[in-house]
Amino acid sequence: MPSISLFLLARPSALLSPPFAIATLASSSRHHRLHLPRRNMASHIIGYPRIGPKRELKFALESFWDGKSNVDDLKKVAADLRTSIWKQMADAGIKYIPSNTFSYYDQMLDTTAMLGAIPLRYGWNGGEIEFETYFSMARGNASVPAMEMTKWFDTNYHYIVPELAPDTKFSYSSHKAVSEYNEAKALGIDTIPVLIGPVTYLLLSKPAKGEDKSFSLLSLLGNVLPVYKEVIAELKSSGASWVQFDEPTLVLDLDSHQLQAFSKAYLELEPSLSGLNVLIETYFADVSSEAYRTITTLSGVSGFGFDLVRGSKTLDLIKSAGFPSGKYLFAGIVDGRNIWANDLAASMKMLNSLEAVVGRDKLVVSTSCSLMHTAVDLVNEDKLDNDIKSWLAFAAQKVFEVNALAKALAGHKDEAFFSANAAAQASRKSSPRVTNEEVQKAASALKGCDHRRATNVRARLDAQQKKLNLPILPTTTIGSFPQTMDLRRVRREHKAKKISEEEYVKSIKEEIGKVVKLQEELDIDVLVHGEPERNDMVEYFGEQLSGFAFTVNGWVQSYGSRCVKPPIIYGDVSRPTAMTVFWSTMAQSMTSRPMKGMLTGPVTILNWSFVRNDQPRFETCYQIALAIKKEVEDLEEAGIKVIQIDEAALREGLPLRKSEQAFYLDWAVHAFRITNCGVKDTTQIHTHMCYSNFNDIIHSIIDMDADVITIENSRSDEKLLSAFRGGIKYSAGIGPGVYDIHSPRIPSMEEIADRIYKMLVVLETNTLWVNPDCGLKTRKYSEVKPALTNMVASAKLLRKQLGSA
Ligand code: GLN
Ligand code: ZN
Repeated sequence: MPSISLFLLARPSALLSPPFAIATLASSSRHHRLHLPRRNMASHIIGYPRIGPKRELKFALESFWDGKSNVDDLKKVAADLRTSIWKQMADAGIKYIPSNTFSYYDQMLDTTAMLGAIPLRYGWNGGEIEFETYFSMARGNASVPAMEMTKWFDTNYHYIVPELAPDTKFSYSSHKAVSEYNEAKALGIDTIPVLIGPVTYLLLSKPAKGEDKSFSLLSLLGNVLPVYKEVIAELKSSGASWVQFDEPTLVLDLDSHQLQAFSKAYLELEPSLSGLNVLIETYFADVSSEAYRTITTLSGVSGFGFDLVRGSKTLDLIKSAGFPSGKYLFAGIVDGRNIWANDLAASMKMLNSLEAVVGRDKLVVSTSCSLMHTAVDLVNEDKLDNDIKSWLAFAAQKVFEVNALAKALAGHKDEAFFSANAAAQASRKSSPRVTNEEVQKAASALKGCDHRRATNVRARLDAQQKKLNLPILPTTTIGSFPQTMDLRRVRREHKAKKISEEEYVKSIKEEIGKVVKLQEELDIDVLVHGEPERNDMVEYFGEQLSGFAFTVNGWVQSYGSRCVKPPIIYGDVSRPTAMTVFWSTMAQSMTSRPMKGMLTGPVTILNWSFVRNDQPRFETCYQIALAIKKEVEDLEEAGIKVIQIDEAALREGLPLRKSEQAFYLDWAVHAFRITNCGVKDTTQIHTHMCYSNFNDIIHSIIDMDADVITIENSRSDEKLLSAFRGGIKYSAGIGPGVYDIHSPRIPSMEEIADRIYKMLVVLETNTLWVNPDCGLKTRKYSEVKPALTNMVASAKLLRKQLGSA
């Protein structure tokens, strides 16, 4: 890879036009006040999607990584995206426009680059961080693996986890924040540079491998602050008048030591920040009263941003505990986590009540979090009907909402915009497409009662074994088999109606036949049909359920260049007809071994969709549960004896604050039980989860009362097993994954046998299942065949040894 400095400003060709006439221009002085007519129109956007309205950045990155384009091509796409975003916000009239919210991969990784905290294994020798080092950290290279990636709070975005040690050297090594500020300025747009705050950066880091786990990451605070000071000084001399520190960890459960770190950090930065307006931004949940007190008493800070969509308690705090006089409140009332149009009238009421607390000139209308967690632009949705479209707002539309609210607050209400919004709100409320009386009634009848299978799991397992007659350590897989290009083409052509239904069924049937035959040859005990008809485990069901809509370009960045396109749940959910019975019975007819019916559970469908905001999430979840329940019962009726209901995303929906977790777990687990409480004892219900740190929710998992759970285990040093070492009693069947399917590596028989041994130390022989970590969809047959061969061989070896013991 050519070593061209990564973040040095590439002058984008599209930018050569004269500066735009925009309100933000006036703010070149150190002072934030603008010379606007009458009152301030204070609007602010925390951050904006960088992937592009049609995933331009994704394609540019992937082509660059594949060596099909060069550094300049990539930089040009990136610069054009930044320009169009800034222009769009400026044209809309946004006063506080963010910069440095663009990223080639991830904003935490950008911060690692800024701080020069590059793990030694990447062989960086100082100087400005270049693409080569940057992308090696993000994606690994031929000789060094990537840094770990983990979920960004409770979103579906994943960040690169910084690895720090007591002797990590920090040095200012990426000038990206400054160069992006200057880049916007050259366009005539004065922006607020956004930095991940120092405390959040440290709290989201992990001790480097080999470091004592008890090593306090916060002890590095004094070492990172000098770099922040350098960045701030450079931003100041470039003319920045504001700087935004994102400190979302303020919404977590923090102890007093952690809270003190915020006071310490901003106190120490205060002299460097003088002359700058400082915004501390929080998002994703309420802040505790302690956190609120800690930050609002910081003297060097001029404004505080709170998520008022998810933070109703913060709203009460502002009103009851008061707000420091002379400071700005950045009120996050336009939802950055969803795709629904804002209820402008309701927002105005809230803003008016806040104005009474903080004062007119100190109230800034903002988004609840960065808009990168919502879809990019509704303009590109030509397949959605106008009805539904009028109820939605993606990032581009949310910018206009924020601005319209700010303008209205300043006495310049755009009547047409507000009345169109009111009409859309009313149409959504009264639409017969949203409400299905029958579903509403059925779902509300569920509340207050419990749903459980009548017999306990031990007795059920006995009854099932009589029918299934499985060996000890039964083998199975999680559901999907490799999806070849051919298969994807068949599905695509079927969707586009380029091939007939008959041809489609024939191809899928052939594929299922191959997968069944392979599993019989491998001598697997409980088979799967391979899911060849499914593109995505949520979309497949959403497309067959009522109440769901799908976008063409509603992509949201998941990590790096990867995006997901969540379905939109807009109405009451029901299941018009059976969804999987046709394929499952076809597959079962091909073998005498048990064939698992394969469903996605209600909590996972919910957590991987954009969910309606006009009723509590659990109500929507119960509706989906009822639809899945019907499917479960139809499968049973059709003779399917084993049914797997995947809850891959159950853990993901866990609220950030401990105080809210019990309530979520209660309804989520209940929703799962609703799906299968009506089956016979002899029908075996499996579930699958793909995460390993479930020790904290193990009691909820037990409470799901599945007959068998298969669960990811091997990628995480078998963390999972430690829960059972701790004495937890699990009576149901359990299959902790015996090998990692995320890697092309083929595990040997000895290695798998060794894993099973370890499991047998803490789990009972007659409840242990043998299976991979997750579905095999992304693997090749050349990897899957030998891996499964070794898996089955090791199960057989152990059976033999256990038999003779
Ligand atoms: N049954 C699904 C599959 O095998 C489960 C996927 C998942 O857990 N994410 O693909
Ligand atoms: Zn999985």
